[in-house]
Amino acid sequence: MTDCLFCRIAAGELPAHIVHKDADTLAFLDLHPIRPGHTLVIPRAHHVWFEDVPAPLAAKMLTVAQEIARRQKRLYGVERVALFFTGVHVPHAHAHVVPMHDVHDVTSAAYLADGPGSYAVPPRLPEAEMAAIARQLAEG
Ligand SMILES: [Zn+2]
Repeated sequence: MTDCLFCRIAAGELPAHIVHKDADTLAFLDLHPIRPGHTLVIPRAHHVWFEDVPAPLAAKMLTVAQEIARRQKRLYGVERVALFFTGVHVPHAHAHVVPMHDVHDVTSAAYLADGPGSYAVPPRLPEAEMAAIARQLAEG
């Protein structure tokens, strides 16, 4: 018995609108969709953060997300599908797969700096700062 909502869904203890299931992953509709068809892909095994999901399992999640994206494109006639992890709400790694009907469907507040009707481009950083950041990230 676990308190984790998504582990309980994976175990069949809680209902969900299942879109896909296999031995290692599960995909089901988000209860609060950005757009109809907004789907969550989870590993059956409990991992809090996406970066903690073992690589082969993460690859399976991506493969499932790709298949769902193709289905969403056929169903909704959208040009693009968003895939993102935020780690918000449920502490069990989950990928959001969202059919994008509008460029702002998954927009960050940084892109809305000039108001909701605009698509602001966040300011560039100086080259030296970018180089330093890249060096830090590359070195870990
Ligand atoms: Zn869990």
